[in-house]
Amino acid sequence: MTLYDRYIAVDWSGGNDTGPTPKADAIWVAVYTDGPPETPHYIRNRLLAEEWLTDQISDALANGARLCVGFDFAFGYPDGFGRWLTASDDPLAVWDWLGERVEDSPKINNRFDVAAAINARCGGIGPFWGNGLKRDIPHLPRKGLARTCEDFPERRQVEHLARGSFPCWQLSGAGAVGSQIIMGLPVLNRLRRRFAGDISVWPFEPLTAPISFVEIWPSLLASEISDTMSLGDIKDARQVEMVANVMARMDHAGTLHGALEAAEGKTEGWILGVGSENSLKSAARPVPPLRNDCFALPPGVDWTPVDEALERLERAITPVVGQERVPAAQADGRITSRDVVAIRSNPPAANSAVDGFGFAHASLPAGAQTIPLVTGRAAAGGAYPGTVPAGQAIRILTGALLPEGVDTVVLEEDCTRNGDEIRVSALPKPGANSRKAGEDVAIGEVILKAGAMIGPPELALCAATGVAELDVFTRLKVGVLSTGDELIAPTSDARPDQTFDANRPMLLSLLSRWGYDPVDLGHSKDDRDLLRATLNDGSRRCDAILTSGGASAGDEDHVSALLKAEGSLSNWRIALKPGRPLALAQWHSVPIFGLPGNPVAALVCALVFARPALSKLAGGTFAKQAGFMVPAAFKKKKKPGRREYLRARLQDDGRVTVFKSEGSGRISGLSWAGGLVELPDGAMTISEGTPVKFIPYSAFGL
Ligand code: AMP
Ligand code: MG
Repeated sequence: MTLYDRYIAVDWSGGNDTGPTPKADAIWVAVYTDGPPETPHYIRNRLLAEEWLTDQISDALANGARLCVGFDFAFGYPDGFGRWLTASDDPLAVWDWLGERVEDSPKINNRFDVAAAINARCGGIGPFWGNGLKRDIPHLPRKGLARTCEDFPERRQVEHLARGSFPCWQLSGAGAVGSQIIMGLPVLNRLRRRFAGDISVWPFEPLTAPISFVEIWPSLLASEISDTMSLGDIKDARQVEMVANVMARMDHAGTLHGALEAAEGKTEGWILGVGSENSLKSAARPVPPLRNDCFALPPGVDWTPVDEALERLERAITPVVGQERVPAAQADGRITSRDVVAIRSNPPAANSAVDGFGFAHASLPAGAQTIPLVTGRAAAGGAYPGTVPAGQAIRILTGALLPEGVDTVVLEEDCTRNGDEIRVSALPKPGANSRKAGEDVAIGEVILKAGAMIGPPELALCAATGVAELDVFTRLKVGVLSTGDELIAPTSDARPDQTFDANRPMLLSLLSRWGYDPVDLGHSKDDRDLLRATLNDGSRRCDAILTSGGASAGDEDHVSALLKAEGSLSNWRIALKPGRPLALAQWHSVPIFGLPGNPVAALVCALVFARPALSKLAGGTFAKQAGFMVPAAFKKKKKPGRREYLRARLQDDGRVTVFKSEGSGRISGLSWAGGLVELPDGAMTISEGTPVKFIPYSAFGL
């Protein structure tokens, strides 16, 4: 259940009428409703904006719709100001105070005089500044630096967190917001009075009324908004459109509630989304759903070779995850959602690669054997303050910045020190043993492409190049469901016709090793209604689902029967042993991988098909596993027609052996093995010593 039915974002303006043609820095509004998307509107002045808002609020109330309206100006001033101005602790008293004094018309308003009147009551000059008129106004300086009043903080608490936001005291100049607040709060105050009881002001009042007024700041989504801009677009229009959409999507995703709660008790007001940046950002980049028929096979396809099936699968799917920004330290196992750029060069400045003695190579006479030493030394963690004179050397340690006058370092092992000079047998080449600034990575260079998996080496690279935060895909949530009447959880009093569910723990473990959020969807009997209810639940909670069992086309294959009837099933008959059918379908647009019930076949299918597919769904690459050729320590005559995977183990002698039985019920062989031998689609006769491809479990990420 959402909190609201409609959402409006308003980009306010503190200036005068901007004329009939849509312009930037004027009033722009965007409405989000369940209906078809509306284009943002331009409103030329505040009078018309107030009428428009009145209509929107009346219409919402008449239709029983709950409406959230965001305005891009502060609803309050820094701590202490309201009480000083109004003698009340109610932040809304400031709204009344301004409402009584501000005069507005399309062509002229008194905002600078109202601010000057407030300043006049203060000790010293300020806090307001930025007289934007030609005439001088007593008590209202043109420059912020002219202020002497220190009675109030410069910023609200939230403005310390919202980087790049402007203080409310500045009334004019590029980016200033002070005028918008003075000219906006009286309008909101009139609406609040006119619709008394139907409007709650966040975060000063509990949000119990059908209409909420909230403070927004589109710059929180600056990069997401700039990604939507086309040539000739007016930024204000894209901003309000994005914010209205984001409020709606957060509400639908269930994250708006938390973002609103983050401001509880904030008497200065708060900006919606500050403190909930992750949900804000992921709402700003919605995920396009998979095509409905993405798993459909062309008519006439029967047995599909593994490679062809993989290619088809790769084409069928696209990432289904949102994006978020996380501290690099928390990004282990995540996938980058955009290219990562170095914020600092590595190394940031030239330094020594060894312990030794540094000098300017060109300043030494050819064949120099002794070099006088300057006093002092250069060590890591502090720059040597002086310059090393021509013809002289300095003691230098690994990692120390090269002092002025040093470009070359001789290894300490290659010279002897004799009091205040060193003796070298042979001079090294110019620049030897020094690391140049940026020789590894230059600032601004792309260090990781989008789609890269973050692991220990990537964490080191990010840290070394000053990357403290990473844009990553949200973790893929993958459900695991076992099906079959015979299945039960392990217990001591099972009947012989009951089977312990082995697939679920196996698949859940696989998923967490692959870096996803495993979701245990439990076990379902072979009952269509039960299965349907479980898939409904799973598709709400997961981005993808792995089922096992019931995936063939037989009488008892309820998963494939249900998916066929109601979930756009494609039974992929893959020329694979063990494995056979892979049921691919969508349930409420969530992709379902129907794995065989047999644990051996379930694991092989999960490793060969689900692994690359899930990786692409999660924003990564459709990564196929790498194997290597080793001599066989077994004999086998393989028939043509399908690819085979054998449970295999690398011996100490470097040859690979296979499990004693190929029976796909032999679960012990999975654990005995250290990987799989992959035999090609065609016929093959293997004798001892024949090279075969071994894929260790580790190459499959387990
Ligand atoms: P099915 O694919 O449903 O025909 O099942 C094939 C075989 O795998 C049957 O012997 C099932 O009992 C067995 N099986 C199915 N699911 C599991 C599971 N989760 N754990 C262990 N065995 C299973
Ligand atoms: Mg079954």
